Amino acid sequence: MRDAGVILAPCGPSTLVGRCPFHDDHAPSLWLYPDSGLWGCNRPDCRGAGVHDVINFRALTKRISNRAAIGQLTDEFL
Ligand SMILES: [Zn+2]
Repeated sequence: MRDAGVILAPCGPSTLVGRCPFHDDHAPSLWLYPDSGLWGCNRPDCRGAGVHDVINFRALTKRISNRAAIGQLTDEFL
């Protein structure tokens, strides 16, 4: 998420929050549980709404398929 320009700040013991890169966010709507890597946006009409994982984040930011995102992440981290 840092690579995508998202600045995260702690919000409680196990949650980070930041401005969502998928809509014009003026308040921190994006949440992330770093332990599980799950994240989402609190704005219901946002592409980031719901519960997502790191593969979905790559796919949404790069506008690629989940399969392509898996390939990129595999190349970078394995
Ligand atoms: Zn959003």
